[in-house]
Formats: sequence, structure tokens, C-alpha cells
Amino acid sequence: MPLNVLFAATEARWNDYRAPLTDALAKAGIDATLATDLPPETVDYIVYAPNSDVQDFTPFTRAKAVLNLWAGVEGIADNPTLKIPLARMVDPALTQGMVEWVTGHVLRHHLDIDYFLARQSGSWEPKVPPLASDRPVTVLGLGELGAACAQALARLGFPVTGWSRSQKSIPGITCLSGQDGLKSALQSAEILVLLLPRTPATENTLNAETLALMPKGAVIVNPGRGPLIEDDALLAALDSGQIGHATLDVFRVEPLPQDHPFWAHPKVTVTPHIASETRPASASKVIAENIRRGEAGEPLLYLVDRGLGY
Ligand code: NAP
Repeated sequence: MPLNVLFAATEARWNDYRAPLTDALAKAGIDATLATDLPPETVDYIVYAPNSDVQDFTPFTRAKAVLNLWAGVEGIADNPTLKIPLARMVDPALTQGMVEWVTGHVLRHHLDIDYFLARQSGSWEPKVPPLASDRPVTVLGLGELGAACAQALARLGFPVTGWSRSQKSIPGITCLSGQDGLKSALQSAEILVLLLPRTPATENTLNAETLALMPKGAVIVNPGRGPLIEDDALLAALDSGQIGHATLDVFRVEPLPQDHPFWAHPKVTVTPHIASETRPASASKVIAENIRRGEAGEPLLYLVDRGLGY
């Protein structure tokens, strides 16, 4: 009997995933019917995006796991109808994309590229940037994405400090944890990258008190999640000069409303949640591998700890 794999995501995603996921399942030796509409009681695995129409998992009585297409799981982790394991997406291409986006935006601020862009009308005003070795960078969150970004920045010569819930040990990175760790991670951060998940414990990690710990004029780069930052506190810190610039990819409300002050603020760069995307070709292999594992009785990869919310 073929397995029934329900693809529960938007139609656009289905168009992107149908061929690569069919191919990845076949290459993993899995005989499966992959469809967007199956009787719930016949479904074995649910490939899922939290913006799908499926919000009640109760009818999926036979399903063995939900395999999320996104790295962030805040839209599903606390769903009370979900009683089966939930795996999040860890995709090498997603990680690579995030490394490129973070590195690019950190280098923009490090080299003060904006300064020179503003002087193209003939202003010859030399200003030599410091070397990376003189620019401490902090990454909050040392998971799949944060650790990869921290290591890429360290390879460029930045002194990198990272902070996570549990204590980590990553070569070349000063790893900190706990509230005291957060304090010292922020105190040294001339450029701060946020790659924490959105959970009750990470909401408003950056607020008036913590922003005040950072060096004056520090830059914030947030590809994590909007609620990691208290918006009003950030705006006040930008206006006072405590924070020099914020490059924000994620927001409390997306799309960012037209009247939100971030759009017009001269010290804010808005990008529309494009820092990195799951790529169908590589993500499909991750999904297929997890289904193979499920059928072979092996532990699933990238399981979410729903108590912690990530
Ligand atoms: P991950 O592997 O689960 O890593 C999360 C990291 O955050 C871990 O190091 C974890 O600590 C740490 N953390 C969690 N709660 C914490 C707390 N309360 N205090 C301190 N540290 C805490 O996640 P990931 O794959 O790197 O993804 C990170 C986030 O990036 C996602 O949740 C998503 O929101 C965002 N994202 C954004 C985009 C975009 O395009 N903008 C794309 C993909 C992902 P431990 O190591 O101790 O567990």
C-alpha cells in the first residue's frame, strides 16, 4: 500500500514542491501518493506550512508526523489539536541563503557603504572603515542558522560572540548563555544579529533596558522574528542615537502596514521577509528523508520541543 502524504500549504507552494517532492520521495524509495486533498483518516504524513487551511489535526487519526516546510514553528507549536511529532525545516539551502543575507547586511554596516552611496554627487570625503577584527559582532541564537552565520562572520575576521539558551561550544565563537551572558553579549555588540525563534521566552528580548546595554550607535540586523524587538523601544533608541541603524526583515505584522513608522524612518531598512527561503529541491530531500526514517522506525530529524516552542 502506498503511503498517503498530504501537502498542506498554499497553492503556490504546491506548484513549487510537487515535482521535487515527488522526485525526492521516489529517490528515497518511498511509494507514496502525494496530494493536496486526501481523506484525513487516510493520511500518513502531513507536509505542512502554518498558513495552510489545516488548523485542526483531530481528523488525521492515522498520521504519524507533521513535517513543517518552514524553520519557524510558532504558527503550529502551540496547536492543542496536534498530538503527533512535529519536525521543523532545516535545509542546507535555507542556511546558505541566511548566511549570505546576514553577511551582506553586516558588511554593509561595517564598511558604511551607505556613507559612500550618499556621496556620489562628487563629494570626495575619505573615511576608512576599521578592519573586521576591530568590529565585535554578536549573534543571538546559535541554532542551525545563527551558528552558521556566526561562523561565517568569524571566518571574515569579526570577533563573534553568540548567545543561546543552553551553553554551546563552537570553535572561534565566544559562546554565552543565561541572563548574564545576554548582558555581556549585548555590551560588546557593535553589530547585533537576531536569529532567535519566536517563543514566549524570546518575546521583546530587545527592549528599552537591553537596547541601553549596547554600545552607542550599534546596528541591529533582525532576520529572526519581529516580536523579538519591542518596536517602540527600538524607535526611541534610533531617535536618541543609541542605536545607529536597524535592518529589519521580519515584523510583528506582515506585510508591514503602510503607516508603520519603520517604513519612513531614515535609520531603518525594511526588507519584506526575504532573508532566506526554504528551497524546494533541497527541502524536499529533507522531507523525504524524514518519511523514510519514520517508516524505518528511526528517530525523526529536527523534532520540535513543543514545551519550549521551537
Ligand atoms: P534553531 O536551530 O531552533 O535555533 C534557535 C536558537 O535560539 C538556538 O541556539 C536556541 O538555543 C536559541 N534560543 C531559543 N530560545 C532561547 C532563549 N529563550 N534564550 C536564548 N536562546 C534561545 O532555529 P534556526 O533554524 O536557527 O532558526 C532561527 C529562527 O530564524 C527561526 O525560528 C525563524 O524565526 C527565523 N527564520 C527567519 C527566516 C527569514 O527569512 N527571515 C528564515 C528562516 C528562519 P539552544 O541552542 O540552547 O536550543
